[in-house]
Amino acid sequence: MIVNEKEVKEYLTKSKIGEYAINPYIGCPHKCKYCYASFMKRFTNHSEEWGEFIDIKKTTNKINLERIKGKNVFMATVTDCYNPYEAKYKITRHILEQLVNCDCRLQISTKSKLILRDLDLLKKMKNVSVAISINTLDETFKNDMDRASSIKERLNTLKILHDNGIYTILFMSPIFIGITDWKKIIEVSKSYVNEYWFEDLNLRGAYKYDILKYIETKYPKLYFLYEEIYIKRNKNKLFKMDSEIKNYCDDNKINYSDYFHHEEVINKKENKILGKNNA
Ligand code: SF4
Repeated sequence: MIVNEKEVKEYLTKSKIGEYAINPYIGCPHKCKYCYASFMKRFTNHSEEWGEFIDIKKTTNKINLERIKGKNVFMATVTDCYNPYEAKYKITRHILEQLVNCDCRLQISTKSKLILRDLDLLKKMKNVSVAISINTLDETFKNDMDRASSIKERLNTLKILHDNGIYTILFMSPIFIGITDWKKIIEVSKSYVNEYWFEDLNLRGAYKYDILKYIETKYPKLYFLYEEIYIKRNKNKLFKMDSEIKNYCDDNKINYSDYFHHEEVINKKENKILGKNNA
């Protein structure tokens, strides 16, 4: 792992995803196989693979709290602010210490139980929500996909956050058709999840063929389905699953947001991030 410290002008960047974004790191050691943020590598000086480098952003400049008053602030959009290096560098914690009395709407997204270290600060915030990504209950599949906290730890983290009065979101993303048991994930977590977000797998860029190869090797019975959807672009089965999820949530009064089929929206978001990011 290549680790660098990098001086930046400020942490805050303008983003269409949440009006403002804070990415305390460049790169992400969680190294998810499907990481859409891996496009960021093109804008770094790194030759290493995505997931094999991290730049620790440092600045002594304070966050301009007036600028984000009443705004959405999203942590983080192209890294995980609770990646394992946060335990040592505490960049995210120092940022939260500045935001604790701010009147912004803070949304934190992570795959790490390390967020519990900052529960003391989160509990003091007026408007914070935490989204934790879970797309499987199968630890083997999870270990094939990423190096973040186990699924058991992520579910436990959601529960502890919820028990402490934090608004919790289970971000079911990316949903792997035929693999993600979305109904079971809802059933095991609904007592401590305030809201679900659903997003289908978008296969783009360099990782598309890695994922297809993985499916062919580990889930050969599903390969033709993936080929149909992601190579032949026939998305009927995805539409069907999307309807089933929505119907299930409506019938069971589950609070949710659906982000299926928004590849174009993501592309636009990426362009906006690239246009504004000072990383
Ligand atoms: S945790 Fe998020 S940013 Fe990090 S590798 Fe995974 S998808 Fe990418």
